[in-house]
Amino acid sequence: MAKWEELEKKYFMGTFKRVPGVFVKGKGARLWDENDKKYLDFVAGWAVDSLGHCHPVVVEAITKQAQTLIQTSNQFYTIPQLQLAELLVENSCLDKVFFGNSGVEATEGAVKLARRYGKLKLNGAYEVITTLNSFHGRTLAMTAATGQAKFQEPYLPLPIGFVNVEYNNIEAIKVATTNQTCAVMLEPVQAEGGVNMPGDNYLKEVRAWCDQQGILLILDEIQTGIGRVGTLFAYEHYGVEPDIMALAKGLGGGMPIGAIMAKNEASVFVPGDHGSTFGGNPVACAAAYATLKFIIEHDIAGNAKNVGDYFMVGLKKLKQKYPFIADVRGLGLLLAMEFSSNIAQSVLLDCLEMGLLVNQLKPNTLRFIPPLIISNGEVDEAVDILDKALAAVAH
Ligand SMILES: *Cc1c(COP(=O)(O)O)cnc(C)c1O
Repeated sequence: MAKWEELEKKYFMGTFKRVPGVFVKGKGARLWDENDKKYLDFVAGWAVDSLGHCHPVVVEAITKQAQTLIQTSNQFYTIPQLQLAELLVENSCLDKVFFGNSGVEATEGAVKLARRYGKLKLNGAYEVITTLNSFHGRTLAMTAATGQAKFQEPYLPLPIGFVNVEYNNIEAIKVATTNQTCAVMLEPVQAEGGVNMPGDNYLKEVRAWCDQQGILLILDEIQTGIGRVGTLFAYEHYGVEPDIMALAKGLGGGMPIGAIMAKNEASVFVPGDHGSTFGGNPVACAAAYATLKFIIEHDIAGNAKNVGDYFMVGLKKLKQKYPFIADVRGLGLLLAMEFSSNIAQSVLLDCLEMGLLVNQLKPNTLRFIPPLIISNGEVDEAVDILDKALAAVAH
């Protein structure tokens, strides 16, 4: 540990606040550190390892593709990206897809697409309305889209064309809409910003407003999509359809991949408008195809719903037992526990000690984003460890 910590300090830009733990091996919902200590992983690569670590279908897809063809370029056709495109389109309400390598490339590309739409169909409208406490990624433009001062202030001035308004407030969107507005971009559930849940009708109201104004609705499903919230996409749960959707995180089963998806009417890119060298890479696409196919065929979203509901019951029991738990919330396997004071880090470290990995979202909030293949038994184990960690801070 000490040696790796030193190397990090000496050679790495100090962007990450690391939790002590050097992980060398994973299988299912388990990780092993360099001392062979075993952990239950409720972080899952930040909601990435949807099928857990080193799932056999993902390993096989990667291995086979890596032995066959690793990369050419988008000058040519390659088969894995086309198979993945078909699978995504045939299982969603969107018609077309573009592949990048990360979440932020998907949101940034989605905004570029909306701006093209604005230029072509809305008299040059270019502004995108986003919400406070959202998270859309780390490029300069997506920092402007992300409605959180702590991400924006270090980089001022930011690119123009974004308005951040209160979440869960349809009036705020209405007031912010002008003849320069081309789109509204939202996370169905605000994930990084606190696992903030939308009101019952919020997304439907936003959809209706966008329809009335003739502007686009972009859903950032980078974290909520691919089964995380108990349906393949969160838009299904909330009964709305986006015009454009951003995907990444859980899509690749651990491999880096992102996707912009759009309905035909919004799919206005023509050759030269957008591109990517690595986007649609055969190995990443083969991994994503295997992941998505497994999720669909084995109803892994259904498992996320059932196990997520079961986990929520356990979290609510803990809330009853410990009065300093202010709230537990979430959907499917995107769950959070908020405390009435800033004890999240201390609970996290106690859990780590006892072999459970959790994520600190804020000084007073923990997030639980385990692999979607976990069982009730593994949830019992996690709740048990949480119980002990909470008992320790209660004293
Ligand atoms: C993680 C995340 C992003 C950014 O994805 P990266 O792969 O880190 O660029 C954007 N939007 C949402 C909702 C996310 O959860």
